[in-house]
Amino acid sequence: AKQQHRGSSQYFSPEMGIDARERFKLLKGLRAGFEENRLFVVYQPQMDLSSGRAIGAEALLRWRTEDGKFVPPDQFIPLAEQSGLIISIGEFVLRTACHQLKRMLEQGHADFRMCINISLAQFRHPGFMNVLSLALRDAGVEGRNIELEITESMAMGDTELVMHLLADIKRSGVTVAIDDFGTGFSSLSHLRQLDVDRLKIDRAFVREAQSSSAGSTIAQMVINLGRGLGLTVIAEGIETEEQRQQLLALGCHEGQGYLFARPMQAEMLERWMSDGQP
Ligand code: C2E
Ligand code: CA
Ligand code: CA
Ligand code: CA
Repeated sequence: AKQQHRGSSQYFSPEMGIDARERFKLLKGLRAGFEENRLFVVYQPQMDLSSGRAIGAEALLRWRTEDGKFVPPDQFIPLAEQSGLIISIGEFVLRTACHQLKRMLEQGHADFRMCINISLAQFRHPGFMNVLSLALRDAGVEGRNIELEITESMAMGDTELVMHLLADIKRSGVTVAIDDFGTGFSSLSHLRQLDVDRLKIDRAFVREAQSSSAGSTIAQMVINLGRGLGLTVIAEGIETEEQRQQLLALGCHEGQGYLFARPMQAEMLERWMSDGQP
């Protein structure tokens, strides 16, 4: 528990702008919400930017409170991390997403890739590999259709442990993407040592790329860096057709964003995948 606390404390910062009492109330609500099934998972399609076909989806957690309001994950996930609740919530997301993946495969979307966000505390929890294997087995899906998204800062700390974890994950066939890439301070040599499959370019770069030539130079560098390391690059937060075209021109061939689809509930995703595809 000590390690968990240490690991997650960096995610909690006064930036959240709520005091201890409010935090306590929110956490209490979150616990109750989780127990009473008010947490659910939505899915945002990920696209092949040139063909316009969906290649998979990112699972994103939602919390609808009793009075029908939504608390954004940016607010409640740090709390869940800090309290340790993320271990069970994270397992719920993993299991739900694996189950949904099974449905997508059954509906004929072969090679569908389900991307799942993993928190630092969850990743470092001793039971993580076991939880992952059981989730795969129980849903009846293979590792190769699953991708875990870990943030750049997570991948950078405690190299030994991270390398071992990544090796275990790889053996299960599951792939790994570095999320929010470009926002941290990874050294290139460290990045090269990490056995990951994909870099997910933070949406700040997608936005900047269009607004200035310096921005587009930086986006180009981030994309080249990923490709130079032999990784696929995916962009998030694509909102305009211009951004789609620019990313393609810069050599980034995968992406997600409001231009294509917002995160949606499972049944919607199933419908969207069967009607909305070119
Ligand atoms: P993220 O992993 O970087 O997820 C991408 C966020 O960008 C999502 O916000 C998504 O709804 C939003 N987004 C997608 N397309 C666009 C776009 O075109 N424009 C803009 N402006 N935004 C777009 P969301 O769902 O609010 O999630 C926020 C963060 O909460 C996520 O950032 C992730 O760090 C965390 N999160 C969400 N679900 C989970 C989860 O199941 N586990 C963990 N550990 N973290 C999660
Ligand atoms: Ca993500
Ligand atoms: Ca991201
Ligand atoms: Ca993020």
